[in-house]
Amino acid sequence: MPRYRYLIIGGGMTADAATRAIREVDTDGAIGLVGDEPDPPYNRPPLSKGLWKGKPLESIWRTPRIDGLELHLGRHIRSLDVAHKQAIDDQGTTYTFEKCLLATGGTPRHLPFGGDQIIYFRTLGDYRRLRALVERGERFAVIGGGFIGSEVAAALAMNRKQVTMIIPEIGIGARIFPSSLVQFVSTYYREHGVEVLVHASAVDLEVRKDKVALKVRSADPSEEREILVDGVVAGIGIQPNVALAQEAGLLVDNGIVVDTTLQTSNPDVFAAGDVARFFNPALDDRIRVEHEDNANTMGRAAGLAMAGHGEPYHHLPFFYSDLFDLGYEAVGDLDARAQVVEDWREPYREGVVYYLRGGRVRGVLLWNVWEQVDSARHLIGEPGPFQPADLRGRIPGPR
Ligand code: NAP
Repeated sequence: MPRYRYLIIGGGMTADAATRAIREVDTDGAIGLVGDEPDPPYNRPPLSKGLWKGKPLESIWRTPRIDGLELHLGRHIRSLDVAHKQAIDDQGTTYTFEKCLLATGGTPRHLPFGGDQIIYFRTLGDYRRLRALVERGERFAVIGGGFIGSEVAAALAMNRKQVTMIIPEIGIGARIFPSSLVQFVSTYYREHGVEVLVHASAVDLEVRKDKVALKVRSADPSEEREILVDGVVAGIGIQPNVALAQEAGLLVDNGIVVDTTLQTSNPDVFAAGDVARFFNPALDDRIRVEHEDNANTMGRAAGLAMAGHGEPYHHLPFFYSDLFDLGYEAVGDLDARAQVVEDWREPYREGVVYYLRGGRVRGVLLWNVWEQVDSARHLIGEPGPFQPADLRGRIPGPR
């Protein structure tokens, strides 16, 4: 029976960051990592960005190797017994631990049709599958206009594929961008050859030889059309993997609830990354963040805490994306339903968008404005109250 001082459940970026942090402060404590995927931890963002722009696959691996780390890959922990400090995987192996980290991430939401024909793009396996289709196919459908949809559609178009996006909302990024920017980005995609169908939903599919016929409905249900493609990708959000925590009796509320040192409701079990819900003082709210910076920073903080070097996790993570040659960084809660203050230096090419609620800045979008993430964090931490006029020019960009 493998016995570990530290058992990490999950094999993503959060898990990897935690193991590295543990090793920094505990040079000999045994660490075991159990992950669903067959691959060792890798950087996820290049799967929808850099790998489509010529970056080599080898560049995604997380290095250097960690001394004494034992990987158990392609295995799924089925039960966690916090009282006896043990976990059992789907092959019947029991692992014991002194401290355990739940870095279980999230599972893509699925559509009620299509089964395996749809690639719910999240893992290296999904990337490999899409790559293989791209080698022989020309036409692709992308369902969803969020992070995955916008990045994968741009990646495919940059690889000279014909792409149709199917988006239920008014356009690309509708949840996070002000509507004027949604319109601009959607037009920009069209100018780059992407067909962008808005107020549209994919409702069914049929396999025809080596192609897929996707049925798409617009706001007017009489306007159903069929798109014949070589592959279908969907990015319609994820759900945090909380089942294990729930069955173990840990506190769960839209994610595994953790305190400032990332302990769950059991002091020997920690949680971090996409799955963990934590209090952020700047936003004065409990949040769950599904982005790279949070995975790395929170994973590291959890590892240190497990090894007895815990410090309050007060980090306000940033995130970023590339949409053809447009790019941005952002901090906080970008909710397009908030009061949005747009401060363009050059309309839709360079500027800052502020998201105001109750007189406080809740989020900042730095559109082609760089090295201002800390200024944005600082502003979100300020008590205000702010009026829209107070914010114009508040965060400077390069001129
Ligand atoms: P996402 O960014 O949450 O976007 C999902 C989008 O799909 C939403 O706009 C959602 O609209 C829409 N949607 C929901 N049901 C749909 C349906 N039946 N048909 C079509 N669209 C539908 O999630 P994602 O793009 O799937 O990304 C998955 C995760 O990876 C997220 O956690 C994301 O943060 C992360 N990720 C991050 C980055 C980055 O930081 N750059 C890049 C890639 C992925 P509603 O709002 O109306 O539900």
